Amino acid sequence: MEIKRCVRCGGFFETANEVCNICVQKDNKDLGKLKNFLDGYSIGKVTKKDVSANTGITMKNLNRFLAGEEFAGVHIPETIESNVDKVEKVIVKV
Ligand SMILES: [Zn+2]
Repeated sequence: MEIKRCVRCGGFFETANEVCNICVQKDNKDLGKLKNFLDGYSIGKVTKKDVSANTGITMKNLNRFLAGEEFAGVHIPETIESNVDKVEKVIVKV
C-alpha cells in the first residue's frame, strides 16, 4: 500500500483512499448531512456558504465533496448576487 497524506487531517497513513480511516467516518457523516441538505433544496438557489453554515461542513471539505464524481453536474455557486427577495432556491444540474 501507498503512504499518503490525509487531505482532511493531514496525517500520514497507508491506504488507497484520499483520507485516513478516522476521517473516512467524518467524511461519511458530512456527506450524509450534505445530501440531506441538498435534498431539501432541490427547488431553489443555495450558495456554498449556505451549505457550509447549515451543515457545519467546512468550505475546504465542501469543495472536495462537490468535486467528487457523486456530485458531478451539481453546481452550487459561491455567492448569489441580487437575489435577496427570491425565496425560490435552485440547484442547477448540468
Ligand atoms: Zn485524517
